[in-house]
Amino acid sequence: MSAVAQSLIIVVSGPGGVGKSTIVEELVKRDDRLWLSRSWTTRERREGEMQDAYKFVTHEQFREHIAAGGFLEWTEFLGNLYGTPMPKAPDGKDIVLEIEVDGAQQVKRLHSDALLLFILPPTREEQKARLVGRGDAEQKVVQRLQKAEDEEPVGKALADYVLINDDLAETVTEMLDLIARERSNRLK
Ligand code: ADP
Ligand code: 5GP
Repeated sequence: MSAVAQSLIIVVSGPGGVGKSTIVEELVKRDDRLWLSRSWTTRERREGEMQDAYKFVTHEQFREHIAAGGFLEWTEFLGNLYGTPMPKAPDGKDIVLEIEVDGAQQVKRLHSDALLLFILPPTREEQKARLVGRGDAEQKVVQRLQKAEDEEPVGKALADYVLINDDLAETVTEMLDLIARERSNRLK
């Protein structure tokens, strides 16, 4: 069996600026059974963004990887390509994917038992403040807020659980509890 088939797949999705990257970073710090997949993207690295936040590639490299069947899922998001490489999690680890809703739909289609956690901001204003605070350019902020209007109904309908990321520590604790519950349900 492949690593994908053995592991629990946890999909963390939600609109831009809601706090997904921050949350998944905390999840993997607090639960050493979690393994975070690193996506590929053609977008430029943001100022201050970690070098290893993504594998930053050219369009050509991305297209070649699609042709080689190297992605579990991929999509175009606001003019850039993003994709999850075929996961190679170490034995015994569960896989965390931090992806947008189109990718989440693709993963659910392939792995109906994946756990999909959809994160919402407390308000649109707060989401905007987080995007601005992160240093996104004004045009990017506008695009991400507009995109959120389309993403949210789809994400809510697809999700196993919808969470509001108001207090970060509470959100992370709630997600760790949901993951623990999912693991124990699988043993029954
Ligand atoms: P996403 O990955 O969903 O685009 P990020 O993780 O980059 O979002 O978070 C966007 C910004 O919001 C970051 O500056 C992050 O520190 C901040 N942030 C994340 N969660 C919270 C929270 N619960 N309360 C306040 N700020 C938060
Ligand atoms: P950002 O540019 O803000 O880092 O990411 C834009 C959107 O792409 C976010 O919603 C993020 O979750 C999503 N994303 C990141 N990696 C992937 C991926 O591998 N596949 C898909 N489908 N979406 C991704």
